[in-house]
Amino acid sequence: MGKADLHIHTNASDGDLSPEELINKVSKKNLEVIAITDHDTINGYLKAKKFAAKKQIELIPGVEISTVWNDREIHVLAYEFDEEDGDFLRLIANQKQARRKRMKAIVEVLKAEGVDIDYDEVRAESHPGNIGRPHAASVLIHKGYVGSVSEAFIRYLSTDKIKQIKTEYAVLEDVISIVHDAGGVLSIAHPGPLYSQNEMKKLLKHPFDGIECIHPSHSYKVQKMFLDMAKSNNLLVTGGSDFHGSGKSEYDPYLGVVTIGLQFAEALKRSAKSRKDMIIY
Ligand code: AMP
Ligand code: FE
Ligand code: FE
Ligand code: ZN
Repeated sequence: MGKADLHIHTNASDGDLSPEELINKVSKKNLEVIAITDHDTINGYLKAKKFAAKKQIELIPGVEISTVWNDREIHVLAYEFDEEDGDFLRLIANQKQARRKRMKAIVEVLKAEGVDIDYDEVRAESHPGNIGRPHAASVLIHKGYVGSVSEAFIRYLSTDKIKQIKTEYAVLEDVISIVHDAGGVLSIAHPGPLYSQNEMKKLLKHPFDGIECIHPSHSYKVQKMFLDMAKSNNLLVTGGSDFHGSGKSEYDPYLGVVTIGLQFAEALKRSAKSRKDMIIY
């Protein structure tokens, strides 16, 4: 029996593969159900639909949204939303602008440090995707400042100065209500290494529908802890590889390896359906 992967990126955000290339790759793995969850865009998902249909791969609507919560950035995964919902599409459009604005600020910080980089170069690197720090990392690699994406993050892209830049991402509470109103469900992305027990407790006071229990950054012990947490809070279990393409991230060997059972994807779809049934249009 096939598996599901509910966390995959394409070049519509910071992945390397086009939606078509991604679907071709997925078709060679034991995956029956996937979600393309690009950062703050559904363009990759929309483009992938026809290729997925040809290969008989079930594609669940998905997106990974960067949100602001308690002055920090929290990634949430949204699934099964109405992809034509006006408020949802406005949210996504605003996120795109917030990313551009933040990248301009990042470039200014780097320039002040003497780095030869400009916004248009990063923009060109991101084409056709939603701009993000991995695109700035590519510029730094091409110019010989660093040898790898992770070195770029350590030395240039996650310094205190960069972290101080305020991004105009939507606040968590608004994202949750917009996605719910669009008939979707939400899961807390890759909580493993990021939040303290106390923060997790506070996060779970929000009306999340699920927890991403299965993720390459989760050890077996961490995974079990989140599976227990999902169960005791009556939440959906989501998971996936966080695949970004070839060689860009440390998670890339995990496509087809870090997977979840189809029953979890089925439960997610049932949950979204009952939410939609409750919405009065
Ligand atoms: P941004 O969306 O601009 O905040 O950039 C964050 C993205 O960069 C994440 O989704 C990862 O894909 C990637 N990333 C973050 N940290 C690293 C790292 N240390 N090495 C490689 N990629 C990273
Ligand atoms: Fe990413
Ligand atoms: Fe993420
Ligand atoms: Zn991701």
